[in-house]
Amino acid sequence: MKTSTDLRDLLNRIDHKGYPAYKDTKGAWQFEGYVLNIDHVQGDPFASPSKVSVQVPGKLAGFPTELYDKKHKRIALQDYLIRQFAKQVQAFTFKAKGSGKSGLLSVSRCGQEILERTGCEIDKNGSVFVRMEIGFPANGRTINARELCKILFEFLPGCVKKSLYYRSLNANEVQKNRELSEDQEFIRQELCRLNLCAFVANGSILPRESGVSDRPMKNAVSFLSPKSMEVTLQLPYHGTLTGMGIPKGITLIVGGGYHGKSTLLKALELGIYNHISRDGREYVITDNTAMKIRAEDGRSIKQVDISMFISNLPNKKDTIHFCTEDASGSTSQAANVVEAMESGSQLLLIDEDTSATNFMIRDELMQRVVHRDLEPITPFIDRVQELFTTYSISTILVAGSSGSYFHKADHIIQMDHYLPKDITELAKKEAADFPLPKEPVSPSTKPSVLRPVKPDGAFRKNDRIKIKTQGMDSIVINREPIDLRYVEQLTDTEQLGTLGQAMKYAQLHLMNGTRTLGEVAEELWNLLDQKGISAICEGSYVPGGFALPRKQEIYACLNRYRELKL
Ligand code: ADP
Ligand code: MG
Repeated sequence: MKTSTDLRDLLNRIDHKGYPAYKDTKGAWQFEGYVLNIDHVQGDPFASPSKVSVQVPGKLAGFPTELYDKKHKRIALQDYLIRQFAKQVQAFTFKAKGSGKSGLLSVSRCGQEILERTGCEIDKNGSVFVRMEIGFPANGRTINARELCKILFEFLPGCVKKSLYYRSLNANEVQKNRELSEDQEFIRQELCRLNLCAFVANGSILPRESGVSDRPMKNAVSFLSPKSMEVTLQLPYHGTLTGMGIPKGITLIVGGGYHGKSTLLKALELGIYNHISRDGREYVITDNTAMKIRAEDGRSIKQVDISMFISNLPNKKDTIHFCTEDASGSTSQAANVVEAMESGSQLLLIDEDTSATNFMIRDELMQRVVHRDLEPITPFIDRVQELFTTYSISTILVAGSSGSYFHKADHIIQMDHYLPKDITELAKKEAADFPLPKEPVSPSTKPSVLRPVKPDGAFRKNDRIKIKTQGMDSIVINREPIDLRYVEQLTDTEQLGTLGQAMKYAQLHLMNGTRTLGEVAEELWNLLDQKGISAICEGSYVPGGFALPRKQEIYACLNRYRELKL
């Protein structure tokens, strides 16, 4: 392998030449203690920065096997390392100078959730890979190799040494990080055993600092379970931990406005992810398959069987293969439920604030005035029990303004000054005086999911498929956006990047006119889960900047892909 000295010689030779001469730096260079890979060199100083990765061999990195021998531990260690590396690198961005993006150093920016990312990977031998972007410096379009030397020979070696070798890290902190991941994994397993769909530990801090900061709110009221819902766990490291266990079934969260209902639900939505230490939600753990369900006016729907909620439309429109380019509140929410069922979700999370009222309930007076035969909608309230008994799908529902669900709920929690109270008995007693009108509701037939997907010929003909992400809002494939704004459990723009790659991969390799949308989603997921994100990325190197979404979000993305050919 060529060495760092060779690289320095090369850089000296190409200094002051035209920018394209930087292309010669591509390749692997042996530095002391690691290999520097220059995977892709940008075309000019204003283009997307160059892709560089650092590989520290397992022997030198020196991480004890028990820090990464299980998937959850490995992900936690990777997450820890990339945060450490990012901290080091941050100090040096734009310290080397030049035009355009000259001197930019960038590494994945991690939020409060712990995600699997291509930004840092540890293989089975304990070798550590980190991937970053570097703006190769130039003045105008003339190479400034001295500045790149600063980055590669002065800045980076220190960053690598301080953050990617076990011996230079705080061993106690690394240990604590692993222990937290094991405790979190333990709670996930316990949910199953104890028949719970979520757990919220006492002492958790649920509200966030602000609408733009995901950090914990200071001086917040910390969570305390009602006695009747208390569950005590013996975690392998943390020891005894008590909190609120939400049993499978139907749970209602009620309470006055501003008492913390949506905040609790939001924490449950994100409980599908593990959170970093000191987040406040470390021990808020939700069924991995939980899906937030909301109204999503304007979304497209492709042949979804929403007949369990909507049938007999006045225009005779088919609701077994329901299609629209512009869904209403109720049809979009119906499709969201049915698609969640198809994706294997075992828990639906619904907030009245973001629901279509006519999808959720029909009050008695309305039932008297407008006869059932003239109402195409079977509201969610008439299906919520069936979803649990027939399909084992639980629901946690925030309802501040309608008491109708009192009749259906197994557990009713009132948020009172940010503290949950179990009011099941009281609410049931009061509800007995307001019986629900007895209208016969016929049982649903299981939604049909036979939706074979055809490939889009353009993908095979054209090898320049452009994929972009627009923040957390959408991915854009050849100028056509897939709107993901209301897929609320996506938490990082890097997940959208992966979804974009996944859509392209599916177009090229999976959609064949026979595989159904569900089968395409499952295949994508199996690849990502078993072989990693790189399995779906084309090209000669693994790009940084991609994070793993869940299977449920792959379904959600396919379902919102307007250009999909069914
Ligand atoms: P609701 O949905 O019941 O109307 P929210 O959950 O939206 O109420 O909460 C209202 C406000 O109270 C939010 O600004 C939120 O940040 C704040 N809040 C929520 N939970 C707590 C808490 N535990 N401690 C302090 N403030 C909180
Ligand atoms: Mg609310």
